[in-house]
Amino acid sequence: MTSELLIYIDGEYYPKSQAKISVYDHGFLYGDGVFEGIRAYNGLVFKLKEHVDRLYRSAHAITLKIPLSKEEMVQAVVETLRKNKMKDSYIRLIVSRGVGDLGLDPRKCPKATVIIITDTINIKSGNARETGITTMFSWVRRNPVDATTHEIKSLNYLNSILAKIEANANGVDEAICLESNGCIAEGVGENIFIVKNGEILTPPTSTGALAGITAEVVTKLCEKLKIKLTVTNLTPFMMFTADEAFFTGTAMEMVPIREANKRVIGDGKPGPVTKKLMTEFHKEIKNPANGTKI
Ligand code: PMP
Repeated sequence: MTSELLIYIDGEYYPKSQAKISVYDHGFLYGDGVFEGIRAYNGLVFKLKEHVDRLYRSAHAITLKIPLSKEEMVQAVVETLRKNKMKDSYIRLIVSRGVGDLGLDPRKCPKATVIIITDTINIKSGNARETGITTMFSWVRRNPVDATTHEIKSLNYLNSILAKIEANANGVDEAICLESNGCIAEGVGENIFIVKNGEILTPPTSTGALAGITAEVVTKLCEKLKIKLTVTNLTPFMMFTADEAFFTGTAMEMVPIREANKRVIGDGKPGPVTKKLMTEFHKEIKNPANGTKI
């Protein structure tokens, strides 16, 4: 008999088929909650503390009290991986508003629900790293800062899903979302970078892009490798005429982009700057200094 994956819900472990939450949970009813996607590589949870910090920042912004300290949360993630004997994993950490009534008032939800899933994920085709992926700009604008701002990693991901539907309908691998001013924000779950004349450009996190943890690692790598990186507004034209482009994200890791709205980027192959950074990135994920041991 194959043993089922164990899922953490509020301090208890349940086999996957029995891991259930109430239909009155406001995470389900209203998307009222926050989450993180995290990866473990070879027994190290990559940047776990940074992900937990971001989770608590998102929760603070929606006045959601997480019933665990950050340290307890780190331990709960590690313990869930241990229970499942997993050294390599894609981890989904969810904190929802919890069970309330059918009204949307969060005051009716006395206790947040905490869920930890340690599974795997595969969102890119096998050879994406070698061939690059195709993209398109979607009609769906990134959540503006005075609405359900992109800065909160909330359970409300319809904005990204609408963009993804558009990419699927057009037969391209991934969608890119623009900000309300028409500049490039990010992918549906990835930060975006372009390379022009050996220098890297990426959009600001203040107006349209999530402060990505993978992007932060790549930024530090650029410093180390002495590659100039500038945070600035990027137009679709700048993307069409870039030498190289790539996405970063926990699920996607680092992936070259070879096309945007049918315009070939550079020569349509992963370029030297992207390839160099991908090689270095894959060293970083194995570096014990970047991870929490399982
Ligand atoms: N943007 C969005 C909208 C995301 O959901 C994610 C995934 N968390 C990212 C960017 C990349 O962030 P990270 O590198 O921290 O996974």
